[in-house]
Amino acid sequence: MTDRQPLSRQMVAHEYEAVIVGAGGAGLYAALELARTGVKTAVLTKLYPTRSHTGAAQGGICAALGNHEEDHWEWHMFDTVKGGDYLVDQDAAEVLAREAIETVIELEHLGLPFNRTRDGKIDQRRFGGHTRNYGEAAVRRSCFAADRTGHMILQTLYQQCIKHGVRFFDEYHVVDLLIDGGLTRGVVAYRIADGELHVFRSGAVLLATGGFGRIFRITSNAHALTGDGVSLAYRRGVPLEDMEFYQFHPTGIVGIGILLSEAARGEGGYLRNGDGERFMERYAPTLMELAPRDMVSRAIYMEIREGRGVEGQDYVHLDLTHLGKEVIDSKLPDITEFARVYQGIEPITQPVPITPTAHYAMGGVPTDIEARVVVDERNTVLPGLYAAGECACVSVHGANRLSTNSLIDILVFGRRAGLSMAADVAGTGLPDVAPDASEPVREELEALRTRAHGENVAHIRAELADAMMERCGVFRTQEGLDRLTGDIRALRQRYRSAAIDDRGRVYNTDLLEARELGYLLDCAEATVAAARARTESRGGHYREDHPERDDGEWLKHSLVYKTDGDPEIRYKPVTITRFQPKPRTY
Ligand SMILES: Cc1cc2nc3c(=O)[nH]c(=O)nc-3n(C[C@H](O)[C@H](O)[C@H](O)COP(=O)(O)OP(=O)(O)OC[C@H]3O[C@@H](n4cnc5c(N)ncnc54)[C@H](O)[C@@H]3O)c2cc1C
Repeated sequence: MTDRQPLSRQMVAHEYEAVIVGAGGAGLYAALELARTGVKTAVLTKLYPTRSHTGAAQGGICAALGNHEEDHWEWHMFDTVKGGDYLVDQDAAEVLAREAIETVIELEHLGLPFNRTRDGKIDQRRFGGHTRNYGEAAVRRSCFAADRTGHMILQTLYQQCIKHGVRFFDEYHVVDLLIDGGLTRGVVAYRIADGELHVFRSGAVLLATGGFGRIFRITSNAHALTGDGVSLAYRRGVPLEDMEFYQFHPTGIVGIGILLSEAARGEGGYLRNGDGERFMERYAPTLMELAPRDMVSRAIYMEIREGRGVEGQDYVHLDLTHLGKEVIDSKLPDITEFARVYQGIEPITQPVPITPTAHYAMGGVPTDIEARVVVDERNTVLPGLYAAGECACVSVHGANRLSTNSLIDILVFGRRAGLSMAADVAGTGLPDVAPDASEPVREELEALRTRAHGENVAHIRAELADAMMERCGVFRTQEGLDRLTGDIRALRQRYRSAAIDDRGRVYNTDLLEARELGYLLDCAEATVAAARARTESRGGHYREDHPERDDGEWLKHSLVYKTDGDPEIRYKPVTITRFQPKPRTY
């Protein structure tokens, strides 16, 4: 083989009872459950497993352990539902809050080095939106390992997977999902090292590919978070749920978006405007800086808009100076180091300039509470396809995710996915796969790799991210979204004839980034279509032209379907069990 040779038509075939796409927290927990049950399992990941974004999670993972003060899973469930502006499916939120407790304890038993209380229990700290007794005051519910909680989760689970013999295919980029005749049949992956296509035949495929923050210019998300699994499902006829709800985290490093965890406010940090005022007093008098993120991000932008940014600039301050060196060094070492390295600021003595950063996708591939992918408003299951983690929407987060609820979501539902898959594959044979199953994606990749002339992919990617940031960020209007719809259509057109520089096959990251741009365009298209249709404000979706929540019309999930033209949108009801919708005050 030479570097320039065409991709071979001869596919390399593999057979596994279960295939997992993604080695973040969701994928690894599923893999561990499958391996423990003796199911032959492959994990495919485009990154080395411990480089998954879960490893960047800083702040914590919540569970109502009550190690410092009284706490109950019912309170956690209530906070999750209220934080999600009542768009949460409450059956799923109940599973999350109940199973959070055993999941964190199991993590401890698997070897995760949590911070400890004086009497040796798992330490817990406050985080936004988590309260005692249905909203009375902030409660200490988030467990943590300094500000490296996600890193520890990933290391712990990866080691356990290795111990239990999970087979990893590192640096295999999944480029197609094989669904035929209403059945899941496997995936096609591109081996990054040599550009060879591999077909994995399997009747049980889990998508655990993480988020798609890279549709925005300023984001906390790693470069690889391009919505691959979300887009591949969308292209195969699976609708995307609640895509209009995207969370901006209040405290990103100005201009670059790197995250300064909410742990900083959980440990008692203040937000101050240009007048030195703790402005959250005016927006959320009870919880102040620990109000949910959608509210804090909007409040920061309101202060800036009204001229109260620091020195008239587009940022406010995160002030940790009153916490003291000991707390900062022991509880917030990594994030304060970010401020030193990227901003030249010493957080022990100086306030840190911050601004909101695109952070978390509440929407994604719709699933039921067993992590099975569902494809319509009646929750019809697509046999053999599963999704968990940030790429999925089981709807525990509704319109706005609470802090530290993602790490627990990926583990609770990653684990459930593994258990469902193990139950479903028992006693069934492998599905058939057509001998030319990898042909359509091979042709797409070859067209891109060999195109002689065309626009540079990086320009299109940058324009998309700028346009999304400007017109589909924290504030949205009909006019902006209408314009953005046209912009995305035009970018898609340009993408069809874009070209790349590297024509080789060995580690052709140029080719894969071009492929990822296609996924980003799909995610952006679905996000904007759903945002344009929803003429109300709820959680992370704020329409300046429709500033009120409208439960009469809009207490429903959106489902966006891909078509040859504009996407089609349908709606499905929200599952309400214990908590009737109420206005949200904090
Ligand atoms: C900076 C930061 C800090 C955060 N802090 C917290 C926190 O303190 N608490 C909290 O609850 N949440 C936090 N979050 C959110 C949380 O970390 C994520 O939502 C969560 O880790 C996502 O996990 P995941 O398993 O779904 O996906 P990820 O961990 O993102 O993993 C995705 C996996 O999919 C693989 N993949 C993707 N596409 C392909 C493809 N085409 N082919 C093969 N493999 C593919 C990747 O290689 C990777 O292994 C934070 C997020 C960020 C960005």
